[in-house]
Amino acid sequence: MNLQPARGTRDIYGAELTAFKQVENTVRDFAKRYGFGEIQTPIFEATEVFCRGVGETSDIVSKEMYTFSDRGGESFTLRPEGTAGVVRAFVSEGMAQNLPVKLFYAGPMFRYERPQKGRYRQLHQAGVEILGAATPQTDVEVLCLAWDVLCALGLGGNVRLELNTLGDAESRAAYRDALVAYFSQYREQLSEDSRVRLEKNPLRILDSKDEGDKKLIENAPEMTAYLNEPSKAFFDEVKTGLDALGIPYVVNPRLVRGLDYYRHTVFEFVTESLGAQGTVLAGGRYDGLVRQMGGPETAGIGFGAGIDRLALLITELGKVDPEPRPIAVVPAGEDAVLPSMKAAHVLRQNGFIVDEAYTGNMAKRLKKANKINACAAVIMGGDEIAKGVATVRNLDSGEQKEVPLTDLPAALESFR
Ligand code: ATP
Ligand code: MG
Repeated sequence: MNLQPARGTRDIYGAELTAFKQVENTVRDFAKRYGFGEIQTPIFEATEVFCRGVGETSDIVSKEMYTFSDRGGESFTLRPEGTAGVVRAFVSEGMAQNLPVKLFYAGPMFRYERPQKGRYRQLHQAGVEILGAATPQTDVEVLCLAWDVLCALGLGGNVRLELNTLGDAESRAAYRDALVAYFSQYREQLSEDSRVRLEKNPLRILDSKDEGDKKLIENAPEMTAYLNEPSKAFFDEVKTGLDALGIPYVVNPRLVRGLDYYRHTVFEFVTESLGAQGTVLAGGRYDGLVRQMGGPETAGIGFGAGIDRLALLITELGKVDPEPRPIAVVPAGEDAVLPSMKAAHVLRQNGFIVDEAYTGNMAKRLKKANKINACAAVIMGGDEIAKGVATVRNLDSGEQKEVPLTDLPAALESFR
């Protein structure tokens, strides 16, 4: 039997899970502060939830999906991202009755990719979506939430917000024509993928990771020149809002996003500290997606944060909060086992983290207490039990004192 986890997946525990949970909980806490409710959508959905038409040219949909037919012969796909499932739920649960809808999610996503540092086949994202609010103020709020999360993780100085607009449908169409005209001159030099994109969705060439494509992209026309007045005004309001809130950004006129349904604002928070996998949080406005999925015309905007990459980043930069330290109970001798179990129980009922070694003499148990980084030991032997006390030892200083059992929780208060 092969006991390794499948390629691109891993067991997450110990220090990695600590960092991981810190990231997830920070996004959750801030999303709550901004008025988002949490949703858990299914891990797999009907394939058409993710793959909506022949125009789909994103890597995610065209190459990376885990699609299978189940025993009933229906085609399902493990979710590669969060937005499509949330929008599907918005439509099928009839949420459009009460707008705007603000939803937070966190969980695993699945993409068939070449695994490397910061790139997995089972990845994890925490994200938010606002449905039914079309004002640029919403874009600013979503960006502000993302910025707050990154700052709370201690990453304010390590990430850069890159911002762009894809304009409305009219601007996008004009830009598309300009890109077709430009890239058609270099058709032979384009990568095979980008030749397909040229036919189906030329904007996506700008997102190519092919080195030859990248050279051609350097001189490609920029979106900015093709924005109509309403699109320009929308983008200006977003930038004005960011300025007012003191959120730093750079406009990257060649930024497009991995999925085809984006409109107006698109953004990525990028770090230089993770090598090639530098994007840690990304999103944008997707007015039109709800309609495409059979719901009423509804504006949408959101982001997905890469939990794995953010956990790596706070680990490498030493920004992971220390774990709370436990208290160790140390019975000395058989007769002390039950009384120490009772003491541990009372302490746990009072909210303390309490652990013990289960076996061994006192010296061994104290060694184990150090190994689990306990801050204090509650030592109980025959003498102590007879007197109704325990010895509380500070494991950092070695100081110790006798404490009546009834006073244990109060005496340990300083070790919380
Ligand atoms: P990339 O360009 O790195 O492939 P993407 O554009 O495909 O990223 P999104 O679909 O925008 O990524 O997902 C949002 C975030 O999820 C990314 O910014 C990244 O932090 C994270 N992410 C995406 N794919 C992976 C992966 N395979 N492994 C780990 N994290 C990932
Ligand atoms: Mg990708």
